[in-house]
Amino acid sequence: MRVANETVVSIDYTLKDERGNVLDTSEGVGPMEYLHGAKNIIPGLEQGIEGLTAGETKSVVVPPALGYGEYNEKLIQRVPLDRFGENKVEVGMRFHAETNIGMRVLVIRHVDEKEVVLDGNHELAGKTLYFDIKVVTVRPAELTEVAHGHPHQAGGCCGGGGGGGCGCSDQESSSEGCCSTEESSQKKDGGCGQGGCGCSH
Ligand code: ZN
Repeated sequence: MRVANETVVSIDYTLKDERGNVLDTSEGVGPMEYLHGAKNIIPGLEQGIEGLTAGETKSVVVPPALGYGEYNEKLIQRVPLDRFGENKVEVGMRFHAETNIGMRVLVIRHVDEKEVVLDGNHELAGKTLYFDIKVVTVRPAELTEVAHGHPHQAGGCCGGGGGGGCGCSDQESSSEGCCSTEESSQKKDGGCGQGGCGCSH
């Protein structure tokens, strides 16, 4: 069958930047499974995979607007160093913080004696992404998968200590609270990237 909305697809992929540096790959960790049409993955990649069948390979080029968005200067903040108190502050450290556009992952870009420069952009924001993908399997989604907006593995949603394909607890899975749409959209920004759930891997 072909990849379409309400199919569960697993792909092998390698993601490179414009210079050919490998940014991410499924090699060594196994194929990534997602629910097509449920915004589990970035729009440009989803569009590129649409209509393929198992075994097909494709190179998909994703511009920033269909990937992780354009780089936004407004997401750069300068914060006095003393605001961090006793906390360790080093370039490259990342943490979650409330900002004027909601919860973001912030990365420390620069530190000097007086201030810390924080960047709330996704690390792939502003980048054109070069994917080489191979469709491994395509199957119809179960009704519960469509309802939850993510694929399940054997054992159902969130079953078997996280082996259900998402990181939500069993408690949450009994209601709509499991991997809700709201959480899924946060996940997209937070860079979870896998499983289609709201967890932060
Ligand atoms: Zn689920």
